[in-house]
Amino acid sequence: MHNNSCFKVGLYIRLSKNDGNVESDSIVSQRSLLNQYVKENNYYVIDEYVDDGFTGTNFDRPAFKRMIKDIELGKINMIITKDMSRLGRDYIGTGELIEKYFPNNNIRYIAINDGIDTFLDNTNNDIAPFKAIMNDMYAKDISKKVKTSLHSRMKEGLYVSGRCPFGYLKDPNNKNHLLINEEQAKTVKLIYDLALKGNTYHYIAGELTKRKIKTPASYYNYVWNSKCISKEFGVWVDTTIKTILTNRIYVGDLVQGKTKKINYKLKKTIKNNPKDYIIALNTHEAIIDRNTFNYVQDLLPKNVKRPEKKRFYLLDGLLYCGDCKHRITIRYQNKTGRSYTTCDYYRTYSKYHVCTTHTNNYEILENVILDNIRKVYKKNLDQNKIKNYIENLNFTDNCLKIKKQIESLRITNNKLIENLDKTYMDKLKGLLDESQYLRIRKNLKKEIDDNKLIIANLKKEQLNLNKIDNKNYINEFLSFDSQNRKLIINLVEKIYIYQNKRIDIIFNFKNKIL
Ligand SMILES: [Zn+2]
Repeated sequence: MHNNSCFKVGLYIRLSKNDGNVESDSIVSQRSLLNQYVKENNYYVIDEYVDDGFTGTNFDRPAFKRMIKDIELGKINMIITKDMSRLGRDYIGTGELIEKYFPNNNIRYIAINDGIDTFLDNTNNDIAPFKAIMNDMYAKDISKKVKTSLHSRMKEGLYVSGRCPFGYLKDPNNKNHLLINEEQAKTVKLIYDLALKGNTYHYIAGELTKRKIKTPASYYNYVWNSKCISKEFGVWVDTTIKTILTNRIYVGDLVQGKTKKINYKLKKTIKNNPKDYIIALNTHEAIIDRNTFNYVQDLLPKNVKRPEKKRFYLLDGLLYCGDCKHRITIRYQNKTGRSYTTCDYYRTYSKYHVCTTHTNNYEILENVILDNIRKVYKKNLDQNKIKNYIENLNFTDNCLKIKKQIESLRITNNKLIENLDKTYMDKLKGLLDESQYLRIRKNLKKEIDDNKLIIANLKKEQLNLNKIDNKNYINEFLSFDSQNRKLIINLVEKIYIYQNKRIDIIFNFKNKIL
């Protein structure tokens, strides 16, 4: 045995904010454990080093640094901690200390509760690296816990971001709640109206700039570039329009958790997979109703591919070449003051004779097609059949999305329950002690319950969506006089135009009603 009087002891005590609730980890209880140990073994204590409120995932702690300095000065040659995790929770750094730094500097290290003494040849020392990994894993667990609490705040529908989305302002009585900013909301509505008419992002951006409507950035007093027309209003860019037209915040939902930290030790964030977004429904007042929003989402891919244009065509984006199956575009001819259709494939590769012109006077074509759609529907208008059909249909993508969300949450929950079982097995095997087990179990259970709550909410939403959509569709459907674009897009999937003037209309309801 060693003669204990040759050791000049430093006691190291650390408490992080995350350890705050564990009584046995408190400064007082660490200190009394260390003092008792020192007394029993007749060690000579030189100093005590206390880091209160510092995480173990790094070594950037004042008392720890002072202790290292004292080691270098030869003031101490032995360190005692309650357990290894007090020294550090980062297993690479802790391992470096125990396996290299301490031996190289002839420092004896004791972790009382882990039975580690680097001057004794015992089996506990052999498991030190393993224990360090366990401590690191615990740090991961805590970091997950912090994340989970932020996540559950998001799931509860609390707005956690610092910046306010365009169209809203923060409720002065509750910083996690949004209220409508009337002036900005007007602009949001205008953007959706313009999109409903089939305009591109680019066109809408140009239109807003022309009308001198203030951009989101101009509200934040950003300095604009040289393209700036007026410092007061700013220039609208396509991506701003796109962001506004695709953001569910405007129907009253919060979609959060779009980024995540890549590692609990680092600050860097990356984009999350959309399936991992945290969505809370109806958390604040909507600016755009759900139907309009859904129509616009349907329209966008059809609007986006077209070049900037000033004319609005009811059938734009629906026309296809019956012969080569490529798109048919509609162009205005200044010379004649009329609009004409052309096969895109023909126009692009005309010198290779891959297709033919498919030129038609658009106005005449539109009338013929609309007449036919009306005729087909009137002839087959069996109201009961239609009602039946509509009532049994998942009309919108939204319904489908919610269904998928519910499914994925169920899968997640099954995995969590599996993890719960595994954790219990780990406890039986002695890999986790009681308090670690209870902590992990609590977190898992909380997550499972959170998910169950979201599933229940989504189911309610599913029912509502079906009701709302069906009612509106039936009304619009039965009064088919007004020829509006959203109706057409929902009735008709595609229209094929052939060179020989044949027209095939592919209805969305094809085999079901007709
Ligand atoms: Zn063609």
